[in-house]
Amino acid sequence: MNKPILFVDFDGTLCHDRFWRSLPEEQYKKVQVRLFEEEKSYAEEWMKGKHTAEEVNQFLAEQLGIPFEEIWEIFVKDAETMNVSKDVLETIRKLQERYTTILVTVNMDSFSRFTVSALKLKDYFDHISNSYYEGKFKSDNEGEVFRDYIQKYSAPVDRSILIDDSTGACKTFRALGGIAYQVTTEEDISHHLAQLNKS
Ligand SMILES: [Mg+2]
Repeated sequence: MNKPILFVDFDGTLCHDRFWRSLPEEQYKKVQVRLFEEEKSYAEEWMKGKHTAEEVNQFLAEQLGIPFEEIWEIFVKDAETMNVSKDVLETIRKLQERYTTILVTVNMDSFSRFTVSALKLKDYFDHISNSYYEGKFKSDNEGEVFRDYIQKYSAPVDRSILIDDSTGACKTFRALGGIAYQVTTEEDISHHLAQLNKS
């Protein structure tokens, strides 16, 4: 019998740190508004692999009127120093006995280039799925990303689990027949992992 899959989201689930968080507050706010509100489709294209981190930082450097090297250095350093609980990572590593573990994230090239290696995330998961390289988001094509991994590993979908803070992703995963645990302010990832360990 093949193992079920445990999918774990990154942003808002494993980690709550933001990119460019070390910029001075005024500039940080400007980045958030410019990139994630006014130029939302540009940011989404980035997360589907259509732009590189260098291109986006070049764009932001021009928008903010600061040198590229300055914003790039902050961006890389922030990506390399994102806070993820070691206890949570260790708990996930132990769950590899019972599950194929996949970190599934809607993210940028910078996540795989800087964050994964700096935090040694490959030591804790069997696989890392980043929308940048998948070219799609979790709910695209009725959860094709999840479906493809379930098929690839011939995993029993009804015992496979998603831990994610996104209502949409949880809904998509349940529609495929899986079990979704939504991370909220009351029930964080540690809470859900503890439940899994009891089952
Ligand atoms: Mg999330």
